[in-house]
Amino acid sequence: MEKQLSYKRKSVYEQIGPEELDRAFAYAEEYKTFLDASKTEREAVKQAVRLARENGFVPFHFGDKLQAGGRYYYDNRGKNFFAFVVGTEPMECGVRITAAHIDSPRLDLKPNPLYEESHLAYLKTHYYGGIRKYQWPTVPLALHGTVVLRDGTSVEVCIGEDEKDPLFYITDLLPHLGRADDAKPLGTAIPAEKLNLLVGSIPVADEDADDKCKENVLRILNEKYGMTEEDFLSAELCAVPAEKARDVGLDRSMVGGYGHDDRVCAYPALRALFECAENSRHTLMCILADKEEIGSDGVTGMQCDLLVDLLDELARYGNLSGAALRERSCCISSDVAAVLDPNFPDAFEKRNATLLAYGVTMNKYTGAGGKSGTNDASAEYVGWVRRAMASENVIWQLAELGKTDVGGGGTVAKFIARHNISTVDMGVGVLSMHSPYELIAKVDLWEAHKAFCAFNRFE
Ligand code: MN
Ligand code: MN
Repeated sequence: MEKQLSYKRKSVYEQIGPEELDRAFAYAEEYKTFLDASKTEREAVKQAVRLARENGFVPFHFGDKLQAGGRYYYDNRGKNFFAFVVGTEPMECGVRITAAHIDSPRLDLKPNPLYEESHLAYLKTHYYGGIRKYQWPTVPLALHGTVVLRDGTSVEVCIGEDEKDPLFYITDLLPHLGRADDAKPLGTAIPAEKLNLLVGSIPVADEDADDKCKENVLRILNEKYGMTEEDFLSAELCAVPAEKARDVGLDRSMVGGYGHDDRVCAYPALRALFECAENSRHTLMCILADKEEIGSDGVTGMQCDLLVDLLDELARYGNLSGAALRERSCCISSDVAAVLDPNFPDAFEKRNATLLAYGVTMNKYTGAGGKSGTNDASAEYVGWVRRAMASENVIWQLAELGKTDVGGGGTVAKFIARHNISTVDMGVGVLSMHSPYELIAKVDLWEAHKAFCAFNRFE
């Protein structure tokens, strides 16, 4: 009787056999390769375009004639990516959308970053997204990004990823002299303006130069990239952790890496689209958004009308209005969930927290303080997704971010739902979210892939 009436979450390990576990582990290897090559949204889009082309997708331009079975991608300014498959059923059936984001918390360089202090050269940073600032000093950092030179040439920068490359570094105070800092609250011990990258300590041999170490750094940048100090003005350079993704734990059950949030959902969303593209009845779309970590604003963020513009093209192809198409479309906003951390039990409500390796997590709502600022999916839509998950034996759990009133967060869900598209959050659980090195369980990643496939194929 109890067995029939009660609901209890079970771990993935209790429910899949050794063969499927092997597949989950093999999938994680492919994901690690993607993650290492995608440390910024620009790099993630490059990978997405490459993978899309390999899977028969062609670039879409507004006005192009669409056809059933067609596979298209739209590269928005190299930072935001859409791929879609036109299904064989009428457009009246709507579009199945999976949306993840590919930007992650990091340290961007300021517009005038380079300076010298006490014969050391530094680059000033402005943090991007929600970070705990104390986590970033003494972490090996790499510099990624794009510099647009005075003449308009774009130069790609990537220093610190090759074993032979130099790294960048933010110093911290030695414990011997850290008593005053030790007594400060975590959030104030390392203020933002201390997050300065040490980039050089050799002075130029120029008697007249004021800041000789800074001059030397400029000399090197000029030799390597043809840039001058003024070119920092039109640059997007980001300091990101230089570590590669690695297995974690004696049983190798987890993956540590920078930027799981949200590439750990972007990757399976993309792979699921490829897997379901062949002879798809439904029209499918995968969105990889930028700027989620800072509010989804701007032309490459989810608040841009580009999604509506692309859906309008599909509506036109199907001879119906954009409003009618959106009304019948639905979306999984695939973003990461916070895993219950036994080291910090006070932050979680264990009955409603994501458990590691208990499958992909659905968040019916996110937000903060009494569900404010969230898309709260309807029981009907959650019920439909539930049936979709059951149709392919997806192992999933429904959870909240943390204890009520402890904090909060958001995703792109509300920016898609605002277009009258039913949306719910579903993604992989992460430990140490937004830290320089986050942790996920391989089986949760695998269940996310299964979930997005089930969503793409259901009914
Ligand atoms: Mn996220
Ligand atoms: Mn995030």
